[in-house]
Amino acid sequence: MEKIQIFDTTLRDGEQSPGCSMSAGEKLLLARQLEKLGVDTIEAGFAASSPGDFESVRSIGQEIRESMVVSLCRMVENDVDRGAEALKDAHNWGLHTFIASSPLHMKHKLQMEPDEVLKATTKCVERAKKYTDNVEFSAEDATRSEPEFLVQLFSEAVRAGAVVLNVPDTVGYTTPDEMYELITRLMNEVYQADQVVFSVHCHNDLGMAVANSMAAVRAGARQIECTINGIGERAGNASLEELVMAINTRQQYYQYETGITTEQIFPSSKLLSQITGVSVQPNKAIVGANAFAHEAGIHQHGVLKNSLTYEIMTPQSVGIKASNLVLGKHSGRHALSDRIKELGFELNDVELNQVFKEFKRLADIKKQIFDEDLEALVTHGIRKHTDRFQLEQLNITSGTSVIPTATVIMKIDGEQVKKAGFGDGPVDAALNTIRDMTGIDCRLTSYVVKAITGGTDAQGEVSVGVDQDGMQLTGRGAHTDIVVASAMAFINALNRLQARANAISPQTPMKQVAGI
Ligand code: MN
Repeated sequence: MEKIQIFDTTLRDGEQSPGCSMSAGEKLLLARQLEKLGVDTIEAGFAASSPGDFESVRSIGQEIRESMVVSLCRMVENDVDRGAEALKDAHNWGLHTFIASSPLHMKHKLQMEPDEVLKATTKCVERAKKYTDNVEFSAEDATRSEPEFLVQLFSEAVRAGAVVLNVPDTVGYTTPDEMYELITRLMNEVYQADQVVFSVHCHNDLGMAVANSMAAVRAGARQIECTINGIGERAGNASLEELVMAINTRQQYYQYETGITTEQIFPSSKLLSQITGVSVQPNKAIVGANAFAHEAGIHQHGVLKNSLTYEIMTPQSVGIKASNLVLGKHSGRHALSDRIKELGFELNDVELNQVFKEFKRLADIKKQIFDEDLEALVTHGIRKHTDRFQLEQLNITSGTSVIPTATVIMKIDGEQVKKAGFGDGPVDAALNTIRDMTGIDCRLTSYVVKAITGGTDAQGEVSVGVDQDGMQLTGRGAHTDIVVASAMAFINALNRLQARANAISPQTPMKQVAGI
């Protein structure tokens, strides 16, 4: 059984997808979960792209022990130096260098001749190699590059010290057969190809990212780059859960294995959705709400008799559990802390105190606290103490014969601010007032309410989408009162907009450094 290395880029490529930006704290939370999931490599970000990304890469490198942590770097000396600087105290780290290799990208994006691209590669891979042995090299837009040039470029990278050669299908253009042929050719022709690991990074523009990745593996690639829930630029990257479960479920056919603890797949997917506010579609393979639902009567009958009739894998194998009644109003801090740990979260004392306070408040209103309730409390509690805008109080007057009015008390940069305002309805009144108080001019693009668990005392979870000058983000809030949940979701989105604006440095707009 040969091992396939899983390289997770949820925190770098995934984070670049619309609505999926994460704060440094949220990235660290997800990195801990990725380590638990058992990924071989975590691409933590792009250290040179902004001071915010630098700090985030650094803190992840300092904490994560089991997975290798890497930073993406363009083929410029500063990027390599910044990446190494961010990771120099990390336990286990590497640098991921890249440069575009297709005629289109070299000419229009880089404005470099092929010769210059070769020279820059040698220079920067050698520089990276001075800092660490773990140097990966990617040829951006490889699948639309001249194969002869790719062979030359990858050979240069090997001579300069790269130990992993990554073949990105940056624009999601290739097909499984074509990918198989390309990897086969590269493995035959690249200098000392048997001394390095071949890797692929596939995008899903034509819905073939997973199929293309598996074709590359069949041709000899031994590392796959992928993301949780398949998030990533445009249509996203190859989805980690689909790749891993394909390898596991069809092990007799493929004869490969991965280091992934599959029972951590569903918790990872949920944590990512909680953090970003972006849910997966119900029919999403492996982690969608319907992935293990058997609607058709005849199927249900078969599954009840023997689950293998229509189930090729079990929900338990990917970590889906039935909802548990866990805690109530008499549960103490210890019980709460234990359960939170079982759910996969590691909280510090400040965070635990915050969550405990919210837990007590919720337990007073709602008799039974389920895992889903706790997850909502934890993700909210963790971000709250670092947020710029915080909701202190919200009072609403609404009904059949009054103008809906909201009175809001917020903490903004630690200062208490009060304001009242009107709207068409209670939610509109609350959101208008909050928007005025923060002074952030953004547009609400979506608004969805759903119940977290069953029962009329269930917490309502609200997701809102906001757009500020083309920057799109999602916010989430949960509360037994849906107007309060709406205000929390909106404030969460505004905080995320602020964090994102702070993370992007004006000298290096993300679009320009977007990566492979
Ligand atoms: Mn990509």
